[in-house]
Amino acid sequence: MKIEMHAHTSEVSPCAKVPAEEMVKACAEAGYQGVVVTDHFNDYVLESFPGSARDRVTRYLEGYQRAQEAGAKLGIQVILGMESCIAGGPEDFLVYGIGMDFFYQNPIFYQYSQEQAFKACQEYGALFFQAHPCRSYCKPRDPHLLDGVEVFNGNPRHENNNPRARKWAEKYHLGIFTSGSDFHQLEDAGKGGIILPSDVHDSMELAAALKQGMAELIENP
Ligand SMILES: [Zn+2]
Ligand SMILES: [Zn+2]
Repeated sequence: MKIEMHAHTSEVSPCAKVPAEEMVKACAEAGYQGVVVTDHFNDYVLESFPGSARDRVTRYLEGYQRAQEAGAKLGIQVILGMESCIAGGPEDFLVYGIGMDFFYQNPIFYQYSQEQAFKACQEYGALFFQAHPCRSYCKPRDPHLLDGVEVFNGNPRHENNNPRARKWAEKYHLGIFTSGSDFHQLEDAGKGGIILPSDVHDSMELAAALKQGMAELIENP
């Protein structure tokens, strides 16, 4: 099963140019059977939505839900994930192995320290990764508070320094590596992801497969 691990929808992520349905279609056309929606769970996104913390989370989940509807029509598995900045820097983190309840339980995840974020993921049973740690504006953060690293980010509009990210991840023996396109525009389809030997149906099954070391990374798309 070929899975896009890092994709945004324009319904939620202000930097994304493609609505959920078109994004899912583009991934399907690029030969993927699954796509993880990792919209930005950041202060400027959530705080732009009206209502209570709960209302904002519900609005945030619209991108994923539209993608899921499109996926059901197109026969491609849409999986819930998250990309969030945390306190203390511009770096992005990816979370896999979560249901919608995770967001309601952690409606201000974006204000957490790295330690709090890692702990929240551990308590839930989710996996916490640093995304593109060597991208020009990022620094590798505390490797002891991570489950793994996105060692390949295929986004063509950033200097991701992927070989450096891999070296850093290997140096600290960070167990789980992932790859993703960081899909924001149509040209990004097919620029990264993983291949699993068997199908997964939701974020928990995906996290379990990652923990078992089943993922083969797409690093030369
Ligand atoms: Zn973005
Ligand atoms: Zn991203």
